[in-house]
Amino acid sequence: MEKLAIFGGLKVNEKIFPVWPQYNAEDEKLLLSALHSGNWSATSNSGKGKETDKGFIEKFEDEISRILNTQYVLAVTNGTNALEIATQAIGISPGDEVIVSPYSFISSATCILKAGAAPIFADIDYDTWNIDPVMIEKCITKRTRAIIPVHFGGQPCDMDKIVAIAKKYNIKIIEDAAQALGASWKSKPVGSIGNFGCFSMQSSKNLTCGEGGIVITNEEDYYKKLYSLYNLGRSLGGLWYEHNILGSNYRITELQAALAYSQLSRLEAQNRIRYDNAKYLDGMLNQIEGIETRKIQDGVTYPVYNLYCFRYKSELWNGLTRKRFIMLLNSEGIPCNGGYITPIYQNKPFQESYNNEANRRITTEISELTCKEAVWFQSNVLLADKKQIQKIVEAILKIRQNLSRLTR
Ligand SMILES: *Cc1c(COP(=O)(O)O)cnc(C)c1O
Repeated sequence: MEKLAIFGGLKVNEKIFPVWPQYNAEDEKLLLSALHSGNWSATSNSGKGKETDKGFIEKFEDEISRILNTQYVLAVTNGTNALEIATQAIGISPGDEVIVSPYSFISSATCILKAGAAPIFADIDYDTWNIDPVMIEKCITKRTRAIIPVHFGGQPCDMDKIVAIAKKYNIKIIEDAAQALGASWKSKPVGSIGNFGCFSMQSSKNLTCGEGGIVITNEEDYYKKLYSLYNLGRSLGGLWYEHNILGSNYRITELQAALAYSQLSRLEAQNRIRYDNAKYLDGMLNQIEGIETRKIQDGVTYPVYNLYCFRYKSELWNGLTRKRFIMLLNSEGIPCNGGYITPIYQNKPFQESYNNEANRRITTEISELTCKEAVWFQSNVLLADKKQIQKIVEAILKIRQNLSRLTR
């Protein structure tokens, strides 16, 4: 039996995993070109470039439009703001209810509170970790205005069922695809299926320029509304000092867009590496007792991996706690963590709104269980070469072999 690193044995993995974010000479070139152009914002015009020159924001939005096969694209400050303006564009307001996944980052639901509406938390599915359409339907009331499905970790939700529910009850869909740029459901890019798709370019995401976000829609009226909310109430094509609704400033800079545009050219190749490694891990880890990987349901044509996750079943590991398991993996040179500490509604800003009739009628025990069982690997880990990915499996097996000694 090999000695564990915490008892003085050799670490399974000595090599550092790939870092994130990554940059190359092309990124430097485009970033500097934005700098030297003197056009640093969506609204500046230094007079140096020709009027016909497209800035990086426009080029970036055009490219996203092409990749996601969606007509209207707006690059914004961040994913949180993307969700907020999509929610406002629908006209969500006090008295409304919006259904959302409780197993997500807080911004998936704060956008509902910010609009003065009540978030209703529909539990996730045990196998896929995504919002469960059966639970969504249980949450519907006459106040329901929208659903925010989250493509958690980059794995698409069951959009057929969600679209069917939205049609049946005449409600809108805002896809939170913050972790899922490039993923597809039945060959349709996620984000392009609902009324709105929202993405994040924060530094942990698969496409990043430090901070940034994207909102997409195929509906012209919604795009006009979004634009106005994002640009201080100005109307598309309107006058600079004419403000028609209460908006704010959610514009991204040319410097951010230059970096995002450059990074975007490598997204698919990186998504592919993460996908291949995730497939490998799924195959290997499923053979280990007490580890349950996420199930990818029929209809998912391409999951991307912003996170690779599995369930750790402590009861099948002689009661070795998840905290201890993660600590042991970390000490073997494998970076991983337990993910969200609680479902969203257990955070303080939700205490008041959570206590309503719609939320009381339903249970969210799978989300609560998942917060206790999850083991997460960040996207940079998934960029490693096959040999290093194998070390993850080796380290888990090593802990398993030492189990009797650890739990005696
Ligand atoms: C990152 C993230 C957001 C928020 O994006 P920011 O750019 O960090 O504001 C929203 N929803 C989910 C699911 C996320 O992972």
